[in-house]
Amino acid sequence: MDIPRIFNVTESAHRIHNPFTPDKLATLGAALRLEPGTRVLDLGSGSGEMLCTWARDYDIIGTGVDMSRLFSDQAKRRAEELGVADRVEFIHGDAAGYVADEKVGVAACVGATWIGGGVAGTIALLTKSLSSNGIILIGEPYWRQLPPTEDVAKGCGARSISDFLLLPELVASFDNLNLDLVEMVLANQDGWDRYEAAKWLTMRRWLEENPDDDFAKEIRERLTSEPRRHVAYTREYLGWGVFALMAR
Ligand code: SAH
Repeated sequence: MDIPRIFNVTESAHRIHNPFTPDKLATLGAALRLEPGTRVLDLGSGSGEMLCTWARDYDIIGTGVDMSRLFSDQAKRRAEELGVADRVEFIHGDAAGYVADEKVGVAACVGATWIGGGVAGTIALLTKSLSSNGIILIGEPYWRQLPPTEDVAKGCGARSISDFLLLPELVASFDNLNLDLVEMVLANQDGWDRYEAAKWLTMRRWLEENPDDDFAKEIRERLTSEPRRHVAYTREYLGWGVFALMAR
């Protein structure tokens, strides 16, 4: 079981697989006022940076589930490196339908809401693991400005304009689900550059090391086209944030 190979190549050097920079992740951790010993569940935990740094900084106890074998292995190594391997566990597997054995104080899905079939479905899934008065974290894109055409939306990596909402609409959607938005940290364009531009050097190095790989042609094409695509579309049109929610 694994995710499509393209991500395991282009994001192999990422610690954070979203437009958050380390300072944003730290800001979010501080904003949540985490008590030591808080249990945190993270569906689509990637390379584990959120759980590992929060275990180090706030003494949380974490469980991450991720379908990428590479990212899950990197997460375990990161936990060792930060000296928190006794407090965080990383499970390699499909997080769809995953419910924690023990209720958690924070249930997160940061940049992987397809796991629950969209934002509302993922919130419903996370709620099954959440203790009363627990916090749900959703990391999700939104339109900074509405794409003028469907082609522009596709340039941003969306299937269509309707994939994402404008920020006021996204915030209103939480209201409609009877949730309080209690905290919010938003990425910015520099963060998008860290997420997207970091893939370019990774792809360049990968091509140097794997010139004869079946995948080389696709990576070559991406390395050529991605910088222009990023600055024309994603960087201008797409926002991203983590929203902290509590049931009313
Ligand atoms: N939350 C992490 C990773 C976000 S990227 C971070 O912010 O760094 C999306 C992640 O979802 C990837 O790590 C990918 O491997 C994982 N993923 C995709 N489909 C999944 C599934 N069905 N179950 C678990 N993880 C999944």
